[in-house]
Amino acid sequence: MKTRRDFLKGALAAGGALVGAGAPVAAAARETHAVPPEAMGLLYDATLCVGCKACVAACKEANGNPAEFSTVDQLWDTPLDTSGHTFNIIKMYRNGTMDTKDAETNGYAFMKTSCMHCADPSCVSACPVSAMTKNPENGIVEYNPDKCIGCRYCVAACPFGIPKYQYDDPTGRIGKCELCRHRHKDGHYSACAEVCPTGATLFGRTADLLAEAKRRLALKPGSTATFPRGHLRHAQLKELLGQPAGQGRMERKGWRDEPNQNYEGVVGNYQQHVYGEKEYGGTQVLKLSGVPFEKVGMPALPPYSSAATSETIQHTLYGGLLMPVAVLGALTWVAKRNVKSDEGGES
Ligand code: SF4
Ligand code: SF4
Ligand code: SF4
Repeated sequence: MKTRRDFLKGALAAGGALVGAGAPVAAAARETHAVPPEAMGLLYDATLCVGCKACVAACKEANGNPAEFSTVDQLWDTPLDTSGHTFNIIKMYRNGTMDTKDAETNGYAFMKTSCMHCADPSCVSACPVSAMTKNPENGIVEYNPDKCIGCRYCVAACPFGIPKYQYDDPTGRIGKCELCRHRHKDGHYSACAEVCPTGATLFGRTADLLAEAKRRLALKPGSTATFPRGHLRHAQLKELLGQPAGQGRMERKGWRDEPNQNYEGVVGNYQQHVYGEKEYGGTQVLKLSGVPFEKVGMPALPPYSSAATSETIQHTLYGGLLMPVAVLGALTWVAKRNVKSDEGGES
């Protein structure tokens, strides 16, 4: 009759044989997904931002979020960071005497913090129930509270610290910017871009926003230039680039008809870098700044998403049965030790 010992020996041998026989152990490393061609996003230009925070208030209103107080008098909505009820915030960089805007030394600068709508989002990859998904057409990273189980894996996975849990709510959910997608059906775009008085936050197709960002980087610092406000349309971009009208891509239908809006401003002393063009494999929200990005709170990230690497590791371990075999082996070893102590009376 077979003893438990025989069974355990057999189990270990089988595990070893699987690995030894060269069971498929490596899944092909996957590439970081690219931004979809018709992806929508935002361009935030810190040099145009005047720190009025109209975008913060508009975001609250558009998403039905309550005020959050950080002052004793509780007179104003004064969130200190993004939260389950604050999806957009303007932070401030300060140095020395703070005399000059957008100067790294003795200067100050603003920076918008909201979801970057990554090309290959790790929040989507980490979510075990697909409550976070990426829209294949416009690339918006969407959240479905009906599917969410509150595990908060997305919170831990995001390199920008964006998804936040509503701890104050017994039926808490995750809060984060969804690019105001609930407003799109009525032809409205992102509320933060709609209200921004200077065009510092601009809504549009990510490819157009990138071209506009590069146009700005080529302008002469200190000169006066025209900056689009609100919603950058492709025709408006062509005009700004001095390219002939017509024959462009078709504008997606459904947006409210409105005349092009512009703002005449002074060209900032830009860092020659469009943040989000490459970071993390690309993001649909792009940023320009006069102060180095790491100084204004934007993390230095590699040009690939950790979703690609973590999924490759997972698929390698699980796809090749390495992990189950290793776990079975470890469990078997523990069980075997216990059998020994049963049989031999060891403690
Ligand atoms: S509304 Fe525009 S200018 Fe005002 S804080 Fe927001 S981004 Fe800056
Ligand atoms: S910024 Fe964070 S929450 Fe937003 S898409 Fe990227 S990983 Fe997800
Ligand atoms: S797009 Fe909408 S949800 Fe996102 S930061 Fe702007 S106003 Fe807030």
